[in-house]
Amino acid sequence: MTEKTQTVLITGASTGLGAVYADRFARRGHPLVLVARDATRMEALATRLRAEYGVDVEVLPADLTQEKDLAAVAERLETDARITILVNNAGMSLPGTFTTQTPAEMDRLFAVNLSAVVRLARAVAPRMANAGKGSIINVSSVVGLAPEFGMTLYGATKAFVLFLSQGLSVELGPQGVYVQAVLPAATRTEIWARSGKDVNTMSGVMDADELVDAALVGFDRQEAVTIPPLHDESMWAQHQQTRQAMLPEFAQEHAAPRYITLNQ
Ligand code: NAP
Repeated sequence: MTEKTQTVLITGASTGLGAVYADRFARRGHPLVLVARDATRMEALATRLRAEYGVDVEVLPADLTQEKDLAAVAERLETDARITILVNNAGMSLPGTFTTQTPAEMDRLFAVNLSAVVRLARAVAPRMANAGKGSIINVSSVVGLAPEFGMTLYGATKAFVLFLSQGLSVELGPQGVYVQAVLPAATRTEIWARSGKDVNTMSGVMDADELVDAALVGFDRQEAVTIPPLHDESMWAQHQQTRQAMLPEFAQEHAAPRYITLNQ
């Protein structure tokens, strides 16, 4: 468990997983800074959380695709020493497929799912590393492990977030900063309707409350990667072992025999 005085900044806190994260951290006694575009929804959530849990909740409206707004949130993370937990949760998906998605839609996806995640982590990391404490939670997705799901660009952004988190764990872990990647599978939130899909036609969909509660168990365990729907956790451990076993094999002066042609 974290100290109650630590302020938590949560992006995408107006609804879905972010709103549940807000509820759970407020229940644990943490002051909050809520970030998303919809100020009205965040004010309503803030009012409830203040009344229910007696914590300070600030609403910081921002469109993370807009440089000015992103810079304001980043500056807040850089300068406000009370914020020691960042939940990089805001995210979006796109309707359609790679050949129907427009360059403008792709840019928006990258702005929210990639650029904002990196910029905000970068804004807070030096301060956390200097203090020797702090936590960054990055919400990725199992889609980032599954090109087979056919959500190519969205999955690629989530694979990036997983890699980013694992890399930051390696870089910042020894300096006392905890980085967690959370990989939900299909979870009942507005992200599906927002990207033109009907979640009610799908099976195996988790509720947002259960997803976040499970992710916070992983947080309390200080897991580097938390996959709430994966029942057999040895599968992830094996996947990591297989990947890591390849690493020393990459340093070779010569190509593998299968790539050596007779006329070489
Ligand atoms: P959601 O219900 O659609 O909520 C997304 C949140 O992100 C909202 O609070 C939204 O707020 C905010 N947001 C979107 N665009 C934004 C922008 N330009 N600037 C600032 N905030 C923005 O989705 P969710 O399912 O809770 O998603 C949360 C995270 O979980 C995402 O990273 C998503 O990729 C990931 N995830 C979800 C699922 C799932 O099945 N639900 C599965 C795997 C991973 P405003 O509209 O008010 O800005």
